[in-house]
Amino acid sequence: MPLPRPITASLHLALWPFGILALFLLPACSSSPRFGSELPRKGDEIVVAGRYFHTGAPVVLWTDPGGYDAYRIERRFVPIADAGWDKTSQSMPAPNRYDARTAGLPDDEIEQVRGGGWTLDQLREVVDQFVIHYDVSGTSRACFRTLHDQRRLSIHFMIDIDGTIYQTLDVKERAWHATTSNTRSVGVEMANIGAYKPNTPSPLSKWYAKDADGHTYITIPSSEGDGGVRTRTFVGRPMENDPITGEIQGETLEMYDFTPEQYESLSRLAAALNAVLPRIELTYPTDAEGNLITHKLPDETLKNYRGILGHYHIQQNKADPGPAMQWEFMTDRARALRAGRSAPLPSQDVMHPPL
Ligand SMILES: [Zn+2]
Repeated sequence: MPLPRPITASLHLALWPFGILALFLLPACSSSPRFGSELPRKGDEIVVAGRYFHTGAPVVLWTDPGGYDAYRIERRFVPIADAGWDKTSQSMPAPNRYDARTAGLPDDEIEQVRGGGWTLDQLREVVDQFVIHYDVSGTSRACFRTLHDQRRLSIHFMIDIDGTIYQTLDVKERAWHATTSNTRSVGVEMANIGAYKPNTPSPLSKWYAKDADGHTYITIPSSEGDGGVRTRTFVGRPMENDPITGEIQGETLEMYDFTPEQYESLSRLAAALNAVLPRIELTYPTDAEGNLITHKLPDETLKNYRGILGHYHIQQNKADPGPAMQWEFMTDRARALRAGRSAPLPSQDVMHPPL
């Protein structure tokens, strides 16, 4: 008598078409990427403690083509034969332009993070301010040249006139941009030639002109070459057509506003930072009546302040980001983005470069 066929074998036979099908389906269903396959980036990610977070704004990282890398020791814009540390050391006492946010940490945590081992939770405990600067360089390329090649300083982010965000260092690093707030802050340099006493010689007339319709636009001087702006055909226009005059540290200053593209990227960056590092509240320094404070904060107030602030709120000798910065508009927009609400754009015709 023939032995009955084992049931499993029968099942195998019965199911074989599905098995073949499964073989075809497996690679698509599998969560393991194929070796060597590329993980696509969207182009809006910032890096915090080695992790990527979306901003919804165009971001060029220091590792990307066209990026600015603050980790490198050599100078970026001098002739290559002079760029290395042997020549650079003639104008800089040491190669560091940044260090670690270890001030005030207990010894065991310093030992842990000194190798770059910040966890996001640790960073969340330490970082609670977002400092806004203007760069007095006019473009992000010129800003990086000034900071990295000449002044031995650093900044986490630069926002160029077309709204491109450049990240030059992981947010875990302590960038050198805001003296007493370096350990606890993230910094951003807004491309803008800066604020000046009215009716005194200034670069404003070299950097701004009016077209036939009376609309102000940015005229990058020929000394800056093509300016290095990522959107090659971009024409930058300040959000307000005329110069803005206001008092900073008790002194009257005049400047042109930032572009709508910069406001949108700044709002998105602030919203993303608040999501990742919640101690960076979406606020700005105000007095008892709710008005913007336009001078350095008293030491005790600064110590207790968490949120967005200007360089001039930290240092008496600074005026950036100047009287044009629209704090309420920018923080309203950031809060709306964070809450998923709609909020007015900086301008009807704000044109972001593609992600
Ligand atoms: Zn500054």
